[in-house]
Amino acid sequence: MAMAPAPALKHWRTTLERVEKFVSPLYFTDCNLRGRLFGDSCPVAELSSFLTPERLPYQEAIQQHFHPAQVGDSFGPTWWTCWFRVELTIPEAWVGQEVHLRWESDGEGLVWRDGEPVQGLTKEGEKTSYVLTDKLGEEDPRSLTLYVEVACNGLLGAGKGSMIAAPDPEKAFQVSRAELAVFHRDVHKLLVDLELLLGMAKGLGEDNQRSYQALYTANQMVNVCDPAQPETFPVAQALASKFFGQRGGESQHTIHAMGHCHIDTAWLWPFKETVRKCARSWVTVVQLMERNPEFTFACSQAQQLAWVKSHYPGLHARLQEFACRGQFVPVGGTWVEMDGNLPSGEAMVRQFLQGQNFFLQEFGKMCSEFWLPDTFGYSAQLPQLMRGCGIRHFLTQKLSWNLVNSFPHHTFFWEGLDGSRVLAHFPPGDSYGMQGCVEEVLKTVAKNRDKGRTNHSAFLFGFGDGGGGPTQTMVDRLKRLCNTDGLPRVQLSSPERLFSALEGHSGQLCTWVGELFLELHNGTYTTHAQIKKGNRECERILHDVELLSSLALGRSAQFLYPAPQLQDLWRLLLLNQFHDVVTGSCIQLVAEEAMCHYEDIRSRGNTLLSAAAAALCAGEPGPEGLLIVNTLPWKRTEVLALPRPGGAHCLGLIPSPGDSAQCGLRSCAHPHLAAAPAAPAACVCSARAPADLASRPLSTKTDGSVTLDNGIIRVRLDPTGCLTSLVLVASGREAIAEGAVGNQFVLFDDVPLYWDAWDVMDYHLETRKPVLGQAGTLAVGTEGGMRGSAWFLLQISPNSRLSQEVVLDVGCPYVRFHTEVHWHEAHKFLKVEFPARVRSPQATYEVQFGHLQRPTHYNTSWDWARFEVWAHRWVDLSEHGFGLALLNDCKYGASVRGSVLSLSLLRAPKSPDATVDMGRHEFTYALMPHEGSFQDAGVIPAAYSLNFPLLALPAPGPAPAASWSAFSVSSPAVVLETVKQAETSLHGRTLVLRLYEAHGSHVDCWLHTWLPVQEAVLCDFLERRDPAGPLPLRDNRLKLTFSPFQVRSLLLLLQPPPN
Ligand SMILES: [Zn+2]
Repeated sequence: MAMAPAPALKHWRTTLERVEKFVSPLYFTDCNLRGRLFGDSCPVAELSSFLTPERLPYQEAIQQHFHPAQVGDSFGPTWWTCWFRVELTIPEAWVGQEVHLRWESDGEGLVWRDGEPVQGLTKEGEKTSYVLTDKLGEEDPRSLTLYVEVACNGLLGAGKGSMIAAPDPEKAFQVSRAELAVFHRDVHKLLVDLELLLGMAKGLGEDNQRSYQALYTANQMVNVCDPAQPETFPVAQALASKFFGQRGGESQHTIHAMGHCHIDTAWLWPFKETVRKCARSWVTVVQLMERNPEFTFACSQAQQLAWVKSHYPGLHARLQEFACRGQFVPVGGTWVEMDGNLPSGEAMVRQFLQGQNFFLQEFGKMCSEFWLPDTFGYSAQLPQLMRGCGIRHFLTQKLSWNLVNSFPHHTFFWEGLDGSRVLAHFPPGDSYGMQGCVEEVLKTVAKNRDKGRTNHSAFLFGFGDGGGGPTQTMVDRLKRLCNTDGLPRVQLSSPERLFSALEGHSGQLCTWVGELFLELHNGTYTTHAQIKKGNRECERILHDVELLSSLALGRSAQFLYPAPQLQDLWRLLLLNQFHDVVTGSCIQLVAEEAMCHYEDIRSRGNTLLSAAAAALCAGEPGPEGLLIVNTLPWKRTEVLALPRPGGAHCLGLIPSPGDSAQCGLRSCAHPHLAAAPAAPAACVCSARAPADLASRPLSTKTDGSVTLDNGIIRVRLDPTGCLTSLVLVASGREAIAEGAVGNQFVLFDDVPLYWDAWDVMDYHLETRKPVLGQAGTLAVGTEGGMRGSAWFLLQISPNSRLSQEVVLDVGCPYVRFHTEVHWHEAHKFLKVEFPARVRSPQATYEVQFGHLQRPTHYNTSWDWARFEVWAHRWVDLSEHGFGLALLNDCKYGASVRGSVLSLSLLRAPKSPDATVDMGRHEFTYALMPHEGSFQDAGVIPAAYSLNFPLLALPAPGPAPAASWSAFSVSSPAVVLETVKQAETSLHGRTLVLRLYEAHGSHVDCWLHTWLPVQEAVLCDFLERRDPAGPLPLRDNRLKLTFSPFQVRSLLLLLQPPPN
């Protein structure tokens, strides 16, 4: 081996920079190694193009008329597509060489060859060259036609000026290179080695001898390597191989590298573009898997795979093939990577149910880990939901974004609300888009907070967020680092191998209990109020459709449960729960599509409700009229507006006199309101209220204030609409803090540091400005009887105004605030506050299938970092014996600081959607003072009632004459949340019931059903039978045992219907 002379000098910096210049793509490319990466080149034979606003299928696109085009041409605008036909002829002289098509253009390209997509091309994703042949053979055809489909958007959309700015609709795109070239694979290998050596020299630092060994090896390689003389390369290569072949010790940390490509299902681009992003990214991955049998790729989100299956069946088949080989690894188990905070418990179950069933059907097995690298916090119920879906492992990294506190673990047990545990891992490199550099490999070990306890870490590499995925260079780097002294060992691995290695050390791991709260992006609980409202409303609609359809199944032999339709609608809802959609952090185009999805669920859902109602009415004697349905599992006494002919409404009181009547229905002669019979009924209409429930007359005092009183609570509003008093009548207890007013609207300046739609910062609290109303604006609305109300107008600012009706119904334990806002602001945040006459160091917030406490003070950094938090339908602040609950029908942001309960109403960020939240909004919140604990006082059913109004459905046929109830539960702690048909159902007559313990207690209860049940057996969330077998069923009653916040599912096999 020819050796270079011994180096004359020992200067660290000049040596290092010398090597850097030798591989630089910027400097000295006329004589350095990088400049030799490509050899001879020639232009493509012919280039033509066709521009379209549509996203056309390939077969359709290539039929279009293509115009001559050339390098340097511009095309666009944003969101359009330019198809290029590329005719090429490889020069005969290149036989024996590796030949590439070099393509550089703006936008995201996809190469089609022989009618199939073969590779993505994006400058941003470092994919600018398509390998035409590894080695051109004598006999190989040298003429070829390819198509390149270029989407007029970048990997990260088309923001005007900055990434998250609203898209620029008029962007121009350009082709800057389209040529054939000879690729020098040996130069590429040397470049990879030299870059890794430079990385080690820099990353290990001047205290480390291995760093010097790396530097001098690289320097020596430069000495022996003449870029103009390829015959010198093997000597340099041998020096590198010797270095990288020096093994580390037995104690080396092991890095499990997995290819990954985070594709946001919609974000800075519309859903339809994501379909193409998946194709571009994954065909590239298929190529990598073909060339590198050890390369693995972890791929999440069933929805994206389903899109590829329907739009690119050939690609889907290849993915299935590589899944069989263990290289393509479906992960995550969910339909999309959903937001971890806002979806309801049931919706989260459905993410897994739809996802796992898809993975099983298409890839032969379910996922064993939950994969949610990028979402804005993680509900404390997730561990239980994972365990119930066959999942024991969890991977994310987003908590590394915490602004205030650094999370103390990377590998740990995460214990949920009910005590369920999963093994959690955060890739310690704090990224899901690594490049395979030495710096990242070193960071993975250095930052790992559990090193010493466990010797394994995950490393996810590949361009992400907007797709793109791994490159061959990344794979080459990681392969080179498989076992080199001075660095951790790097394995191309899989989640399964990672987690089984971590499990081997699990005795050493710490446990984190409760939610994983992200100390950032707290604005996403509020941004885009219409999407939030659509989410809550559609969760309710699907709940009601499933319940009614199940009851119809139980009562009618002819009824066909609308399983396929419900699957479609659920999938739309789940799609919108993606972590940049329901959160409101998407562009306007996406928000519009999301609103269409909700509209679809509303209209088709209401049709399904009517169909179920019709089936429930069929065959029963009785007058035609209204079917009143209570879809909640407890009795209700409520005032309901009933439709009258001609479009008018009248108020009716719907009491439920019986004990056992729940989840039931009742007919109501139309348009009359009948007196309530004493028979057990969930819902019977009544015209007159019992005397003790009667609303007292409204009194307008001389000072312009209004008092509403229903005998349970007494509400006093001052002349501007503020709440000056809220009294529990029986005890005389006042709920509003002394000297303060409730229903106080407040406006904050809301200017974050960068992530506009996402972040509300702590300092916004310092800009609080109460919105002061005008005296004399308060007026009496409804005069009393069954309902009393008052209303007022409030000018929020010169541009925004609000009107509110404050409503108190007879028999109702809470006062409702129906609110309409016309909102035209920039970077303002509207909240409403209720200072309570309650003192407690913690407040309670509803979450999925339960609730949790958060502090009301800012003692520690962990406390004050939660200055803005999320909740579902209610927040409660209680001291011993008394409390105040704040309920809502479509809000998610809240906070309780000191004694002030605050509900977040509207924001006005401008990026990435400049129009977000501008315009009209309608929402309702409610206030419920109570004695005792919120559990005993019935705050939970009250919040359900606010969110699940009684249904008054037109009964097309004879409605049942008597009221009828399907289910009841003996304990108020247990909520029957869901009734649906089982996914696989014998003769369609198996139902699934989901119940949960809502009080945080151990409890035994009886579930009673009036449906003809033949067999009952527990099951998991994926509806797989408990091997312990059927439960004893006596007199249609089942005994169930719950621990705090436990969620249980049950299969009920109904008897065949009588003929
Ligand atoms: Zn994301």
